[in-house]
Amino acid sequence: MYRANEQRYDKMVYNRLGVSGLKLSAIGLGLWNNFGSVDPFDTQRAIVHQAFDLGITYFDLANNYGPVPGSAEENFGRIMASDMKPYRDEMVIASKAGYVMWPGPYGNWGSRKSIIASANQSLKRTGLDYFDIFYSHRPDPATDPEETALALDQLVHDGKTLYVGISNYNGAQTKVMTDIFRDLKTPFIIHQPRYNMLNRQVEDDVLPILTAENKAAVSFSSLCQGLLTDKYLHGIPANSRANKGTIPFLEPAQVEQTLTTVKRLNEVAESRHQSLAQMALAWNLRQPAIASVLIGASRPEQVVANVQALDHLAFTATELERIEQILAQ
Ligand code: NDP
Repeated sequence: MYRANEQRYDKMVYNRLGVSGLKLSAIGLGLWNNFGSVDPFDTQRAIVHQAFDLGITYFDLANNYGPVPGSAEENFGRIMASDMKPYRDEMVIASKAGYVMWPGPYGNWGSRKSIIASANQSLKRTGLDYFDIFYSHRPDPATDPEETALALDQLVHDGKTLYVGISNYNGAQTKVMTDIFRDLKTPFIIHQPRYNMLNRQVEDDVLPILTAENKAAVSFSSLCQGLLTDKYLHGIPANSRANKGTIPFLEPAQVEQTLTTVKRLNEVAESRHQSLAQMALAWNLRQPAIASVLIGASRPEQVVANVQALDHLAFTATELERIEQILAQ
């Protein structure tokens, strides 16, 4: 029987999402990997418990998370039913639709048909009555943005989500959606872009628009899937994501290509008396528009270590300059 740590709110930082009423824990737990039907369920439970015990309130899902697709929502639903139900109102649980999920023309992208069917499936798999945030996972070039926005708006009206978000939209697409949501009075509060020291495209594109519109972001792959940790400094460990060979966007070749940069960044982290992962998370959070950073974790100890990023968030101008120099090399 799980009982949450009574001190769970003592140290976590909670940041308001723009001018909305909602705050998110500065660190959120993502369930893209490590929560599938191929992963040990006891470890999944332990990671969720550890996260919640440290004050993490934001839990990030999508229809296709697993593997197999859908299994992360099912596993999270099991954990909710067995352990976390008493804490439902202390949690912000998100899901998404937009990547391929079922066969045929409706199991993908951003039509009204796909979004609403997918949200219904996600509610069923998780056993939840509603999501706190439901995202369009990516822009659909073939669907009028108004249709996608109206589908999300409908989910709000139907009580299936409290707020809506968008993910992987570029700056111009974000502006279009923001304007539509404003007209509809949809509670659109968050963007979820990829952002980390090695992927900075949103700095000149999405983040300025979010700031101008008083919206916030939660970054995904904040640790570049583990590249921005000390994990690969001495090769590719057997129990690592890069070694699995089944996870998109992380090839052993990337580990090689980024090693020199990562070693130099690690030296800066050491001089700050924190780990590279902790520095990478603090570096993301230096952006005023970034309210929360998502982390993935394959074991509870990684959650503990990463939350300690909050012990040292500030950077000196010299440190920031040194990091810029390293990233420019
Ligand atoms: P990260 O960049 O946080 O990478 C997570 C991996 O880094 C872990 O699985 C672990 O790898 C390693 N790691 C984490 N902490 C440590 C540590 N302290 N020391 C050593 N290694 C560590 O995350 P993800 O790429 O998984 O993204 C996080 C979340 O963002 C996802 O779960 C999902 O919710 C969301 N996301 C959203 C996307 C979107 O399109 N909207 C796309 C991708 C992610 P290992 O398993 O090798 O131990």
